[in-house]
Amino acid sequence: MQRRSFIKKSGLTTLALSTIPSTILLEGNDYSILELMGKEDIKVYGKGINLRKEAHDAFLEMKKAAYSAGIDLKVVSSYRNFERQVQIWERKYDNYTEEDGMAPIDAIDKIIEYSTIPGTSRHHWGTDVDIVDGYRKVEGNVLDPNKFGEGGPYEDFKNWMDENSEKYGFYLVYTDHPKRKGFKYEPWHYSYAPISKPMLTAFRRKNILLLLQQEDFYGSEHFTNGFIKNYVRNNILDINKDLL
Ligand SMILES: [Zn+2]
Repeated sequence: MQRRSFIKKSGLTTLALSTIPSTILLEGNDYSILELMGKEDIKVYGKGINLRKEAHDAFLEMKKAAYSAGIDLKVVSSYRNFERQVQIWERKYDNYTEEDGMAPIDAIDKIIEYSTIPGTSRHHWGTDVDIVDGYRKVEGNVLDPNKFGEGGPYEDFKNWMDENSEKYGFYLVYTDHPKRKGFKYEPWHYSYAPISKPMLTAFRRKNILLLLQQEDFYGSEHFTNGFIKNYVRNNILDINKDLL
């Protein structure tokens, strides 16, 4: 019996050795750190869409389908490079520390409720997109979770996306799962899984701790090892399990 299971296992190992390396090559190793951190100009497609080709094409298919349900999938934000994320980060850091008088660490904790540290945004990848229903007239901030809930202007949008988005490869990233940590619930942020999964795999293989320690923007001097480790665990990796 032991011998048989040994043979069985060896058979599997041989099989694995011959098939796995090419899979690993396909899944992730072809993304450079510059590309993953939004520091390389990538080609994005579609006026007002700005996604990688495959994600753009899938988005258009999904948009067509949503039209027939009376919903206009409108992109609020999609591809964003490193510099743009630095601007967002520094504007918030300035507001919280200068105007609100918050301590640097508190300001950083407040920023990372919704915004990412430059270099770690999924929006750098050209696969992720913030979407609302363009047919609805909405006052003020459109990216407000309450507007996507029961009785909110984007309730129909959210129901339609729950039902259909995954058929087109788009998955909600920051779900309302009660045990999820990291970024708060973002009912507007979707990711094109066929590309973003291998990109996350590639990103996880990099030394994110070291990379962030080398950066220099407002507040970055307050990033301790412990802080970055928690950030990676909660904000980068505690997402919809279907995207891991
Ligand atoms: Zn987003």
